[in-house]
Amino acid sequence: MNGAVLIRGRHVLTSATPESVTDGAVRLSAGRITHVGAYRELAARFPDDPVHGGPNDIVTPGFVNAHGHFSEALLAGMAEQYELDGWIRELIAPVAPHLRREDAYVGTLLAGIQMLRSGVTLVNDMFVCDPVGPEPVTPGVVQALDELGLRGVVAFGAGDARPGVEKAAVIREHEALEKAAAVSRLCRFRVGITVVAAQSPELFDQSVRMAVDGGHGAHIHLHEVREEAAGVRARHGLSAVEYCADRGLFDAPVLAAHCVWNSRRDLALLADHGVGVAHNPVANMVLGSGVCPLPELGALGVDVGIGVDGAASNDRQDMTEAVKTAVLLQRVHHLRASALSARDAFRMATIGGARALNMGAEVGSLEPGKAADVVVFDGESPALANVHDPVQSVVYCAGPREVKEVWVDGRPVVVGGEVTSVRTADAVARSREAAVSLVRRAGLADLSLLARV
Ligand SMILES: [Zn+2]
Repeated sequence: MNGAVLIRGRHVLTSATPESVTDGAVRLSAGRITHVGAYRELAARFPDDPVHGGPNDIVTPGFVNAHGHFSEALLAGMAEQYELDGWIRELIAPVAPHLRREDAYVGTLLAGIQMLRSGVTLVNDMFVCDPVGPEPVTPGVVQALDELGLRGVVAFGAGDARPGVEKAAVIREHEALEKAAAVSRLCRFRVGITVVAAQSPELFDQSVRMAVDGGHGAHIHLHEVREEAAGVRARHGLSAVEYCADRGLFDAPVLAAHCVWNSRRDLALLADHGVGVAHNPVANMVLGSGVCPLPELGALGVDVGIGVDGAASNDRQDMTEAVKTAVLLQRVHHLRASALSARDAFRMATIGGARALNMGAEVGSLEPGKAADVVVFDGESPALANVHDPVQSVVYCAGPREVKEVWVDGRPVVVGGEVTSVRTADAVARSREAAVSLVRRAGLADLSLLARV
């Protein structure tokens, strides 16, 4: 499994310099990229390496899914009629106390398979649940990611504002996830904060200390909807971004999801503190939240990645859809075709997301020394039959059907379009039982034909 291989493509898109290699190849060995160059030269130099990919394929870095929630994996395709507040009240909050470790495990398998099949090699996740049961829930995420062979930055989306949730139980859940990630091959831990308003000032300050002193970094939602900045200001006299800066959260590496509604001061604070942003265009459109100001963030040098977000607010866990949608949303919002290019979106989905997660030195581009996270798009697919510009072909033409191979940490986790590490049919069947049980326990069977008796 860890023997060296060459991965060949008509086009190798690096997200580095040079931007692409024609008739190129990437050499992987022991989990690292060792060479990127002309296929003919590398094949001559390493004649014993097996060759993957093909002469018409497109080879890219793995996509970085910069924001998601495996906690929503069993809730796709229901309760579409709400904006964020109503959606949390009617769907997310009722489910949160009922999520168990088994749901975390099965849901992560289900959503993780979809991500891998859309070219994701690293997911930044925030599992949102109320830790009210006897067993920690979130280690199930790590177990499933390890089985799938999908790299993860894992967080528990913590809050203590809902009734029945005790601060001590929240801290225990963080600690259980941190422990699980510490012994995982592919996962690392971050401190999750759902939103500023979900935490007491005491819990928030403790989260800051964990993120800063523990060296973990943090994952938070910021300014997803217009009401958030105003609501936090009414309570604390500051916007949520200002509150985070004021309390010292930005002394840690922070990935903030959304950042749709920002004052000039908010934008300056994000830039000055090196906060990374995850843009989630499909979820922002599903919930009617708004349009992320990508031009302004870009002008300030903020690192921005693209996320699919959770399955309850973006029912497909499909990175190719999110990347294309990122382009389309900016164009229709600004009434300008130059508002965002395929090249911009491709970089955001790869090296941009890696940098936003403070992992730009390790993943996100095809360069010697980086982790061997690689995707092969099938050049024999009808959608990629005629590649006039490989970046536009990947962003506009390719979907999960064109994802032929995915390599994570030098191992083939998708081959021939199928996940190799787990049986997809088993995960699907198991998830159906889990979804029925979860929806019934949460009292939401009237929203689900599946769960209705
Ligand atoms: Zn989210």
